[in-house]
Formats: sequence, structure tokens, C-alpha cells
Amino acid sequence: MRTIGLIGGMSWESSAEYYRLINQQVRDRLGPLRSAQLLMHSVDFGPVEQAQHAGRWDDAAQILVDAARSLEAGGAECVVLCTNTMHKVAGQIQAAISVPFLHIAEPAGEAALAIDARTVGLLGTAFTMEQDFLKERLTAQGLQVLVPETEDRLAVHRIIYDELCVGVISDASRERYQQVIEALAARGAQAIILGCTEISLLIKPEHSELPLLDTTELHARAAVAFALGD
Ligand code: GLU
Repeated sequence: MRTIGLIGGMSWESSAEYYRLINQQVRDRLGPLRSAQLLMHSVDFGPVEQAQHAGRWDDAAQILVDAARSLEAGGAECVVLCTNTMHKVAGQIQAAISVPFLHIAEPAGEAALAIDARTVGLLGTAFTMEQDFLKERLTAQGLQVLVPETEDRLAVHRIIYDELCVGVISDASRERYQQVIEALAARGAQAIILGCTEISLLIKPEHSELPLLDTTELHARAAVAFALGD
């Protein structure tokens, strides 16, 4: 089994999900007492979040580059960045290491194509919904990507940072997300990419009229596939 390297902490609420999902999948595939060989470098989200909102992306990148290098030095055979938003600096991380970087958009795009959803709605932070770094990876896979309208984007973003990243799960916010999903469905979305690693803490498949493609689950699955040499 190859050793997985996780860059976590953004937020740790979702990094804990990666840890659980990766270990569950290894157990399901290899047997009850089997678990993943992995390293997690969990950063302090505070300085990263401040850098994001101040547009100091190089400062945030430096924190993650250092984390990736320490994972590689510690024996990680791949690097998995446990946040969609910070994939904005994926290129800088990739350039700093010699082991594979497993990009979060690849398994998400593949999952959409596997259910023949060519038009997808993308939910995530404002950075992820409004900038191109994730969308362009999805469109390169042949997908058309819809993002919510302005008011809906503001609500989705606010709920991620004010609630989901600090462990708050509320019915009112779930209903707000359901309205956003309905609006995307009305515009032609055939599936929803949960392009923020905390959203699946709030919205489960039974809460959505459209199929959900959860980047946390899919990225964890890609890590396990790498570790087991699929
Ligand atoms: N975990 C989130 C994501 O997947 C948001 C937190 C962050 O800004 O990194 O985008």
C-alpha cells in the first residue's frame, strides 16, 4: 500500500471526514482491521483564511508548499489537498514536489460524466464559484458549469465560513442550500458538484432533487485508488 499525504485543516471539520472516508474505504476493500497508511499535515486555517480574503494568495500558497514538502520528506507518495478553494494555488504546490498531486477536480468531473450529467451546478466558496481555477478543469473534461446567481453565491459562501467550517449545522441553512439547488436545476443543471469539502456535512443526497457529486468523498476515493494501485 502506498502512503497518502493529506494537507488538512481547511477546515479541520472536513479533514476529519477525509480521514474517516479514506480509512473506511480501505477497510471495505482490504478487510476489517486494515486501514490507510497516511500522513496528515494539518495547518492553522486562520492565516490561510485571512490571506484568501485579503487576496494574498502567494502567502497562502507558501504555507501549503511547506506542508506539501514536509509530507514528501516524511514519506508521502502522493499529496491530497483537502480543500477546493486552495486548488487556486495547485500549480505552485505541484511544482514544489516530485510525488503526484491528486487534483480534486479530476474525480469530480469523472463522476459527472459517469452519470451522463453534462451540465453541472457548482457550489463552493465565492473564490471557487467566481474564479476559473476549478471551473476550467471541469470544462476541460467536457462539462458545462453553472454557478448560482449573486445573492445565492453570497449565502453559500457565508454559510461555509460562518457555520460549516466551525461545526454549525442548521436546518435554515440546509433549506437555503436547497433553494440554491432548485434554482440551478431550473437553469438546466443535471447534477450538483459540492465543490467545497464541508458542504456534505449539511446536504445529503436525500436533501437534493439533483444527484450530488461530493468532492470530499470522490477525492478520498481517488486517494485510496492511488494508495491501492488501481
Ligand atoms: N473547505 C473549503 C473548500 O473546499 C473551504 C475552506 C477553504 O477556504 O479552504 O473550498
